[in-house]
Amino acid sequence: MKIPPDFSFSQNNLQDFVECPRRFELRYLLRQPWPAIQSQPVLEHEQHLRRGEIFHQMVQQHQIGLPVEKIAAQAYDQTLLGWWEDYLGSQPSPLPERRFVEHTLQTTYGNYRLIAKFDLIAIQPAEKIIIVDWKTGRRKPPRGVLARRIQTRLYPFLLWKCANALDKTSTYTPEQIEMIYWFTADPLSPEHFHYSYKQAERDGEYILELIQQVEHYAKTYFPLTSQEQHCSICVYRSLCNRGITAGSAEDEMDEEIDDDRLDIAFDQIGETEF
Ligand code: SF4
Repeated sequence: MKIPPDFSFSQNNLQDFVECPRRFELRYLLRQPWPAIQSQPVLEHEQHLRRGEIFHQMVQQHQIGLPVEKIAAQAYDQTLLGWWEDYLGSQPSPLPERRFVEHTLQTTYGNYRLIAKFDLIAIQPAEKIIIVDWKTGRRKPPRGVLARRIQTRLYPFLLWKCANALDKTSTYTPEQIEMIYWFTADPLSPEHFHYSYKQAERDGEYILELIQQVEHYAKTYFPLTSQEQHCSICVYRSLCNRGITAGSAEDEMDEEIDDDRLDIAFDQIGETEF
């Protein structure tokens, strides 16, 4: 099997690859439709995803300056209203004024295309760049788990590579980049990750290794994960003979509708290629 020449590696598809190479193949190369529900209870899970989607839209509107009272009207239930009030009362601050909202960056790295869509990038010219990601999962993950996520490694790396496209007047070192996760499940305790040149070097090598592994499996075969806990919340478990009962939505690390699932065209929103 060949990786399509225009394939873009993102945090979603690389995270899937890390958890299970076979899932990566089924989902992104074979475009296999979902034969099973992802997690139980289905309706509640879908409602949670829907709230997360609306919440991201509300925050996006707020960040671009729409009036608070107009945005609040979209909070259709108490949970969403609670998230919104928590956001207004405890969003990370102070953030620099120069903002890029729902912004896509992409770059070529080695022979590969890397892409990321950022909830928010805030720039203090010549001083610092802050990435903010709004998380609507039911639980706040432990810091160590977050630190290992592909998103925590790819986003600051890609931003560092593309920083000049956002601010042509300055150059930025990795030490000037910070990533903040803000959680509806724990709004008063955002997680901050300060970046460094050493970490950027490690991340660059790691991402390249992962992509080379993808290429290797594409020439041989994509193995099923040996960590079967990933299977209970995987929609492909019936194809892999890894059970038919859906796991609990509580087991899901990132309960958010991701762009690959929705097939959102990345170029719908502000995009910068570098
Ligand atoms: S069911 Fe398990 S082995 Fe199969 S694709 Fe999903 S995670 Fe991988």
